[in-house]
Amino acid sequence: MLNLLGAKRIVVVGGGTAGWLSALEMRHSFPLSVEVLLIESAQLGILGAGEGSIPNLDLALKRYQIDRTTFMSATQSTYKLGVCFEGWRSGGEEKYHHMFSTIREDLGLMEWQEHGFYPLSSTLLNRGMALDRFPDAAHLMQRKASQAEVAAHIQRSDKEVFAYHFDARRLATFLREKAESRGIKRVDALVQAVTVDLQGNVTTVNTDKGNFDGDFFIDASGFSRLILGKGLGIEWESFQKYLILDAALPFLLPQKDKNPSLITHSKAMNSGWMWTIPTQGRLGCGYVYSSAHISETEVLRELELHWKQEIVPVNRLRFSPGRLKKCLHSNVMAVGLASGFVEPLEATSIAQTLYQLAFFGNLMRENQRVIPERVLNIFNADVANFWDGIVDFLVMHYDTSRADTPFWMDVGKAARPDRYLELKEAFSARTPRIADLVPYQMGGVILFGVASWETVGSAMGIVSPESTVAQLALLEQSAHITLENFIERYQRSVSSNTTML
Ligand SMILES: Cc1cc2nc3c(=O)[nH]c(=O)nc-3n(C[C@H](O)[C@H](O)[C@H](O)COP(=O)(O)OP(=O)(O)OC[C@H]3O[C@@H](n4cnc5c(N)ncnc54)[C@H](O)[C@@H]3O)c2cc1C
Repeated sequence: MLNLLGAKRIVVVGGGTAGWLSALEMRHSFPLSVEVLLIESAQLGILGAGEGSIPNLDLALKRYQIDRTTFMSATQSTYKLGVCFEGWRSGGEEKYHHMFSTIREDLGLMEWQEHGFYPLSSTLLNRGMALDRFPDAAHLMQRKASQAEVAAHIQRSDKEVFAYHFDARRLATFLREKAESRGIKRVDALVQAVTVDLQGNVTTVNTDKGNFDGDFFIDASGFSRLILGKGLGIEWESFQKYLILDAALPFLLPQKDKNPSLITHSKAMNSGWMWTIPTQGRLGCGYVYSSAHISETEVLRELELHWKQEIVPVNRLRFSPGRLKKCLHSNVMAVGLASGFVEPLEATSIAQTLYQLAFFGNLMRENQRVIPERVLNIFNADVANFWDGIVDFLVMHYDTSRADTPFWMDVGKAARPDRYLELKEAFSARTPRIADLVPYQMGGVILFGVASWETVGSAMGIVSPESTVAQLALLEQSAHITLENFIERYQRSVSSNTTML
């Protein structure tokens, strides 16, 4: 049982994005009588990578009552409407997009479900038409809309789904300012140990500046994994056999476009992939690679060949894909990199952090801060399922039979989780369903929905046109007419090169 009814202090260890978001969530979900104290070491600093979000960052701004305009200006943010994958299937210049799905007039048509499937996307798939062209976001992206145009577009509809590109260091600083203005205290100290009582609860964080008692502790210590990992010895589950990237070389380039790109660019490289993220005034880039396949010198050489200029890394990062088997144990919850990390693809890390925090915060608020063990077990199981969903979705991006470099051969042949293999088999007979993704939900939230699985799955050949045949045959004649009208209208708009409304 976790009983925080009489709690006086919550201690957060770590002042990166995860630490400050945790502090804000604790302030949001606990009464003001509970002190929130954050301990971080300025000397150690933060990771400072991670500059792309998915749409739940905007939901978090609303949850924590942070003004969007202030946030965007303080963090040098730009709007992000999706991701472009270049060269993933062949190593060539082919592309596909995973856009955040929004569409104005045709929203109803996009969301229309029958017999558990989506007739519109199934028809498009059946005709071999790429799904990534349909969201409004794709039209804004194609015509390189300005930030102001996107802002106006977003304002017109509360159904818009969008995310941000931002400067990671500025984000942590901004969140710190917000948290401190709400009474959250910060101590700059080096954590050296934790004291645990006979029941296995942490009572105190011991630092070079003194000891800090608390009733509940959040471990947001990044890759140090100080409390749950090292202190309480919670076991690690590795994802390395499924996802083999383990290193990254981030670097910055000037932003030359008048209108920053509205997508994160993910380009397949010889031994991994490269992100290009446009923030206001600069591009944040990085080559994520498998250290078993390429050396740092070779990474730099490949990058310089690509960009035709000298590349100066801002950092050298190593990571080990995996997660703690339990993120909540006794009176400690691990959050952010301290709880796990897969790799930067599809920007899942801050998103996972935010959903986990909201799940925990809601649980606290809705249960008067008294949570029975059985409910805590469900919490941990849900968080684990959510990680499984991230792993399986990312695995699909690498499910190719490319043979052009040793890395792509090895990643194509890497082990696949049984869960994923079963879904893949199902997708050869019919398209993805919500029911397929429910096992990945955490507190009712599914990170990547059917549209995402269909978009990436069809681009990678995992969801084939044939898989739509039997289900489309179930539709009434009137449904086929509606679909036919949409496709005709769409083809006209493409041939006349106008934006489809
Ligand atoms: C290459 C790479 C690319 C990424 N790209 C993305 C992306 O595009 N999108 C995304 O959502 N996420 C991305 N991530 C993940 C993202 O960087 C993290 O989710 C985010 O930065 C949060 O990190 P954190 O707060 O958990 O850890 P950190 O930023 O590392 O913070 C850890 C904190 O703990 C403190 N600390 C550690 N040890 C001690 C100690 N002994 N005493 C006191 N304090 C201590 C540190 O000082 C620091 O304040 C990426 C990660 C990597 C590695």
